[in-house]
Amino acid sequence: MVEVKYYIPNKSRMLVTLLNDKDVQNMHQIHVNLNAPVIEMVVSHIPCLTEAADVVIDISLYLCCIAYFTGLVVHPKMLSVVVDLENFQMVAQEFNDVETLRDAIRNFCIANYRDFVFVKNNPQRVTVECANEECEWRIHASRLGNQERFAIKKLNSQHTCGGGLHVRSHPKASKHWVSNIVKDKLQDMPLYRPTDIVKDIHREYGVELPYHQVWHGKEVAMKDLYGHRSKSYDRIRWYCKAIIETNPGSIAEYETIGGRFRCLFILFHASVMGFIRGCRPLIFMDGTFIKHKDGGVVLGATSKDANGGIFPIAYGVVDTETDDNWEWFCRILKEAIHNCSDYHGEQFTFMMDRHQEIIKSVPKYFPSSYHSYCFRNVKDNFKNQVLVHYCASEKKMLLDLLNIAAYTSRLNVFHK
Ligand SMILES: [Zn+2]
Repeated sequence: MVEVKYYIPNKSRMLVTLLNDKDVQNMHQIHVNLNAPVIEMVVSHIPCLTEAADVVIDISLYLCCIAYFTGLVVHPKMLSVVVDLENFQMVAQEFNDVETLRDAIRNFCIANYRDFVFVKNNPQRVTVECANEECEWRIHASRLGNQERFAIKKLNSQHTCGGGLHVRSHPKASKHWVSNIVKDKLQDMPLYRPTDIVKDIHREYGVELPYHQVWHGKEVAMKDLYGHRSKSYDRIRWYCKAIIETNPGSIAEYETIGGRFRCLFILFHASVMGFIRGCRPLIFMDGTFIKHKDGGVVLGATSKDANGGIFPIAYGVVDTETDDNWEWFCRILKEAIHNCSDYHGEQFTFMMDRHQEIIKSVPKYFPSSYHSYCFRNVKDNFKNQVLVHYCASEKKMLLDLLNIAAYTSRLNVFHK
């Protein structure tokens, strides 16, 4: 069985498998969109139990078909490079540096279900052999003079050990390998989920990895890209200082207890000015959990602009949603609004859920303000706490009545 894959011609270097005509069309479209005239492909022979031993795989036929349908150049040199060590001689093939060579060998072996060992692996030369000591498969590459570039000097592309690995996973698909594979993509998509990474690696490399291994791989990549998460707390001090210096009139405050982070409050001067000058006098207050190992809660104050869009006023990060933390947040927010030159004593309407901590703190700092409750929250509570024992038709009728009552803007209509 032959498997044909191609590299997405951008930084991500993701491998995508061609399974049908639609995939070939997509490949064509991607190369046209990215203005890439060369398709870099991986063609591999996957051992298949039902396949007759004497089947001849005509790789060139596949390539001709692809070139014909896409009108793009299928680069034979690139093809031999990355990939088909079994069908192409790649002696003298060059790589940008030793890391690129190592990655190419590792990716190739994983995608082809072969295990390997580095016999030599240093900045001057790399020698790789099949993990089966009896096997003659071997690649030897070394540096080109004083350059960073590496070239393959000797190659024995035939595995004499028989079929490849017959396991779903691969011994070399470590968390560091996962990290290398996903790093570029994580730069564009920091929220790339481990479950999606598991699926993508299976599709592109045919390797089934356990969730926890991929999760650790993502952690390694995130650490390489952004530094250790715990170290990022050190940068809060720098960030707050930078906000104050570059955005005069802004508030960037943080507190620590015994050297440990406790809370952070950020309000940009432009946001509070924009709120008072251009938004409706509404402030939506809410908190939400931060879903990572260190936990914490984000507190937010937002408004609605004239277009009905969400307009952020201020946000904070605290350890938990407590009376003290909401009080602290409301106190700084009040000071910021009252100190704003455009504020002339207007009253605001606060929108919130029924969390006791917010209900207590808001009136303390905004005593004559109006309060309303988030209708979605009220409706959910009504449905889940009051209507549980009602039948479906009664439930619907009562919810409809609640809807009408909530959206009625005149008192006399409401009484009807
Ligand atoms: Zn072998």
